[in-house]
Amino acid sequence: MNYQVDEKGYYGRFGGAYIPEILHKCVEDLQNNYLKVLESDSFRMEYHGLLRDYVGRPSPLYFAERLSGKYGCRIYLKREDLNHTGAHKINNTIGQILVARKMGKTRVIAETGAGQHGVATATVCALMNMPCVVYMGKTDVERQQPNVEKMRMLGATVVPVLSGNMTLKDATNEAIRDWCSHPSDTFYIIGSTVGPHPYPDMVARLQSVISAEIKRQLEEREGRDYPDYLMACVGGGSNAAGTIYHYLNDGRVKIVLAEAGGEGLLSGRSAATIHLGKEGVLHGARTLVMQDEDGQIEEPYSISAGLDYPGIGPMHANLSETKRAVILPVNDDEAMSAVFELTKLEGIIPALESAHVLGALPKLDFDSRDVVVLTVSGRGDKDMETYLRFMADSNLKNE
Ligand SMILES: *Cc1c(COP(=O)(O)O)cnc(C)c1O
Repeated sequence: MNYQVDEKGYYGRFGGAYIPEILHKCVEDLQNNYLKVLESDSFRMEYHGLLRDYVGRPSPLYFAERLSGKYGCRIYLKREDLNHTGAHKINNTIGQILVARKMGKTRVIAETGAGQHGVATATVCALMNMPCVVYMGKTDVERQQPNVEKMRMLGATVVPVLSGNMTLKDATNEAIRDWCSHPSDTFYIIGSTVGPHPYPDMVARLQSVISAEIKRQLEEREGRDYPDYLMACVGGGSNAAGTIYHYLNDGRVKIVLAEAGGEGLLSGRSAATIHLGKEGVLHGARTLVMQDEDGQIEEPYSISAGLDYPGIGPMHANLSETKRAVILPVNDDEAMSAVFELTKLEGIIPALESAHVLGALPKLDFDSRDVVVLTVSGRGDKDMETYLRFMADSNLKNE
């Protein structure tokens, strides 16, 4: 079984490049060049140098003793929350901006929902002195002010998008429209393992530094370079792809991914795309999509702004279909309990997205010898307002 992309850009029947005519040439250029660039010595030197000195890699693999005690197994946390800008997203934007430069592009665009990918893109554009335009739904601009201010401070132009529901999918449409108008000088930095081929594969490769490090770190700590379980949350799928990349064909390793259940699979307010989605085409790829009978995209809901995307990476759609990965929906309230559990047991305040995979731990039945590696994709600073409101509400209830 091959779980990686094939020569045509497909994972099983998912993936491909469904794009407007005007983008054929730039997507084809990227398809023909990305592997040459990623595998060149000069790219590798620069990429790994920046990951070390600018991002702060390798990120620690931390043995979480009290969390392990609670779940009766050996849990290691892969600490992507300790990266510069607070999450795994910078691994990808550093790589893509280097690819953009090598391909002679002089202008960068990006889409963002919660603003995390926008900030990671604005950051590397400042670093490389490249002009940067970030498309963001107007609803998101209003509810994610601190990230909007960071992007502007970093020198990016943030364009509020007024179409549709004014959220992530509308911002993505607008970024694609911009790309169509400036195909020759503009590089589109996509924030997850989504979009037309080669983006899902390129992003997975750039995030695969996570599992390359896990291998080395586990060998050192456990005397074997593989765990029994790998766990990560999925929005579009990039931190999960990075976590599992080098283990996809290792049958000894069970893969468990958590998607956002929202208020419950049957509540009508959910973002559990793999459970609820049907096959369709979204943002250039054939994948699972949350859509109604007429093929209209359904607005996803999750308490976590980074997980409410109506699609899913084609790699992950295929991993679910082939049963290589178990996908568990984790609801808002389960994620919220997990935030406070990790904070109390380990002194680590996780991002709400990462809390979804922590919220999957109680759903699994571990053996005491099991080695579990769970990726903490980001830190909770950006979610403090939600956490404080939750604490205030539960204090009220307890009075
Ligand atoms: C964006 C984000 C995610 C979701 O994106 P993936 O591509 O699925 O990894 C998860 N965690 C954090 C902290 C994020 O910022």
